Amino acid sequence: MDLALLSVGLFRGIAYSSLVILAYSVAIRMSRSQFRCNLLVGCLFGVVSVATLTDPVHFGGGISYDGRVAVLALSYTFSGLIGSTILIIVAGGCRLLAEGQSAVAEVLAIVATVMIGYAIARMPDRSFSWRFSRSVMLALTAPWPMVISVWRGGSVPLSVFLETALPFVAINAIGVVLLYDLLSNERKRWALFQALERDAAIDPLTRLANRRAFFAQASSILEGAVSSPADFAVLMIDIDHFKIVNDTHGHDVGDDVLVAIAHAISTCIRKSDVVARFGGEEFVVLLPGARMDSAKVIAEQIRKAVEQTSVPAGSKVVSITISLGIVAGNREQMTVKAALKSADEALYEAKRNGRNRVELAVAA
Ligand code: GH3
Ligand code: MG
Ligand code: MG
Repeated sequence: MDLALLSVGLFRGIAYSSLVILAYSVAIRMSRSQFRCNLLVGCLFGVVSVATLTDPVHFGGGISYDGRVAVLALSYTFSGLIGSTILIIVAGGCRLLAEGQSAVAEVLAIVATVMIGYAIARMPDRSFSWRFSRSVMLALTAPWPMVISVWRGGSVPLSVFLETALPFVAINAIGVVLLYDLLSNERKRWALFQALERDAAIDPLTRLANRRAFFAQASSILEGAVSSPADFAVLMIDIDHFKIVNDTHGHDVGDDVLVAIAHAISTCIRKSDVVARFGGEEFVVLLPGARMDSAKVIAEQIRKAVEQTSVPAGSKVVSITISLGIVAGNREQMTVKAALKSADEALYEAKRNGRNRVELAVAA
């Protein structure tokens, strides 16, 4: 067994794996969509495949092995169909460019390795009883082209293969298992972080943005690009006599009412508007680009939509109304905080004037 060769292979594997994990971690954090992420990771694996292609380990007897096979086996798992396709084009294309027609068999081996990786990745979790079963299968996928070429060629004595290549391939397979595990953990960590970040911004009952997320979204819209609209309106919404609903029908029905109102408000606004649960039974809507006349129309639509909403409470049905305060202005003259204060004053005017109505703020 050639220990020097083994350690070279080991250190190369560690170096490439560290770079892959680092780049993968950056790629998943940078990408805004799964498609872009797969595209980027496919390009990353492509670069690794070319880098390792130019840097193979030679065992003598014409056998050489390069780390590209590891990314080929893992490509579908971590970069989907689009990333795998990019990898095949990059890895196969480079081989063809470098060696011409004699590389056709190798290109077919590249395609086959990716496809075996795909088949293993698609197998349901229940097929694997042990935590590492899937990654071990993927790891065993990696060296098969080399094994076949050794046996088919017959030029390499079996002893050379067993003593030199086999330990190297085994170490490489362990590397693939570890790489799979580390990349999977990186992906899980990022998904967990995103879920926590989402939960921190969302009201768990109504699934609307919470107060904190409202301020963050409002400032990114209103203090963002110069091209974003200067006009905006804010609607402050409060449920009428909600305490009576809770007292009469119970807290659970009260919760159902909150969900139904959140839904009614959401159906009346555009995707570019921001709606949030601002407090216990208060909601706020930011309408970027809206002037008072259009804000009034939307506020009336919301008021009517809620008025027509009914929530079941045992054998009875609960009807509910809301009061709304509106302010409209220009982001150069009015901050979000000032707008909220004015809309709140208008809302209490609506309460004083009999509820189930819309009132306009005098000035922000
Ligand atoms: P007004 O028309 O003047 O707004 O009267 P109101 O009864 O709606 O207002 P009040 O401030 O007296 O009561 C608000 C109620 O909202 C009291 C509180 O228990 C209820 N509430 C706040 N948050 C929740 C919640 O998450 N679920 C339920 N079911 N009730 C809530
Ligand atoms: Mg209130
Ligand atoms: Mg109320």
